[in-house]
Amino acid sequence: MLSALSERRFTMAKKNLDWGNIGFAYHVTDKRYVSNWKDGKWDEGALISNPEVTLNESAGMLQYCQQVFEGMKAYTWEDGSVVCFRPDLNADRMYESAQRIEMPPFPKDQFLDAIDQVVKGNLDWVPPYGSGASLYLRPYEFATGVVIGVKPADEYQFRVFCTPVGPYYKGGATPIAIQVSDFDRAAPRGTGAVKAGLNYAMSLHSSVLAHKAGFAENLYLDPATRTYVEETGGSNAIFVDKAGNLVVPKSPSILPSITRRSIVYLAEHYLHIHVDERPVKYEEIKNFQECGLCGTAAVISPVGRIVNHDDVINLPSGMEKAGPVIGELYDTITGIQSGRIEGPEGWIRHIC
Ligand SMILES: *Cc1c(COP(=O)(O)O)cnc(C)c1O
Repeated sequence: MLSALSERRFTMAKKNLDWGNIGFAYHVTDKRYVSNWKDGKWDEGALISNPEVTLNESAGMLQYCQQVFEGMKAYTWEDGSVVCFRPDLNADRMYESAQRIEMPPFPKDQFLDAIDQVVKGNLDWVPPYGSGASLYLRPYEFATGVVIGVKPADEYQFRVFCTPVGPYYKGGATPIAIQVSDFDRAAPRGTGAVKAGLNYAMSLHSSVLAHKAGFAENLYLDPATRTYVEETGGSNAIFVDKAGNLVVPKSPSILPSITRRSIVYLAEHYLHIHVDERPVKYEEIKNFQECGLCGTAAVISPVGRIVNHDDVINLPSGMEKAGPVIGELYDTITGIQSGRIEGPEGWIRHIC
């Protein structure tokens, strides 16, 4: 007898998409997971088909932006199995983000179960092995309860949807040029370390300006003194110094990227590179060899040039290809995600 899963594989077919060229865009997939928090508790949650959300006009989400989110990917391995990379850390981070925004945190076990259900409910949308594409998962939580006076709402919704995304870089990672933003990303004791939509709303203006000026991203400096490096709008920055050490900016207002934390571990334990995690002055960058931006979407984007008005820093690794250390880190982490390299214990969740 066929198991439910293999029967499904037998009867259903992968969507006919040009997986290598789908880019990073939203596609409506078949199923999404929804759980509601009402009367002080989360319900058991379920997969549904309707991609639309209906909210009251005065929902806390719409008025005071009570929202937190996560971003993660599922990959098909060569044997056809589907895996997720360190989803327990997304569950932990979203739990903490929700607490900071005064939202009921979503139980971590239920979070992982929701991820499994969404992947299994959309198997035809999981890009095949070798396409370079993956299934992007977007867990998020928002206030559905009505508020008008400023206070936390009393009802919430947790959702997870997915969309297939193409390889960020076709034919190898190409270095980007970034600029130092004249705006700040996060206040010193604000919400910089929280993955919340509110941090993105305020970054859109400087992001549009950066794109108009021909830069891929903004590099933000510490808002108190504007002398230390923080991160970009959606990725953590890492550097390689002249001695080949990995230099990783440290600040309470940097979002704790799972990609960056994984890279730090792999540098130390797999590649035996010394890692220096500390506050990093903008002034130091001119002495560095390589720079990269870490996040789920691109994994690591090599940076070839950093511009702050008249001050132009051309990293020695150049604009042609990633430098040797960033390149090796990229190959190691993407090797683990795609099953070509054995990862540390517990990094891969086998979904089906
Ligand atoms: C999500 C995010 C990152 C990257 O985190 P990953 O867990 O690696 O995807 C970096 N900076 C900001 C501001 C983010 O929101």
